[in-house]
Amino acid sequence: MTAHITNSGPGIAATVPADEVCGVVGCGKESKRSLSTKKVKEALPELQLVGEPRRVHLCKDHYKQFRKKTKEERELDRATWQ
Ligand SMILES: [Zn+2]
Repeated sequence: MTAHITNSGPGIAATVPADEVCGVVGCGKESKRSLSTKKVKEALPELQLVGEPRRVHLCKDHYKQFRKKTKEERELDRATWQ
């Protein structure tokens, strides 16, 4: 009976359907964005995602983290070119 993985955070996600919950393990917040899992893993390899979906849903906070990280990496890339 362990085949079904859920990502219900404590007391938060009870009323939110699984596909509208942030795909980060232990987060359980409402998802705001759906992104390519590959891109998220490249930007935030330290994040543990629930399962291996093609697209991962991120909550506002994790999406902010993702945006911040991708921005930093773009700036780093630019710096190495100079
Ligand atoms: Zn999250």
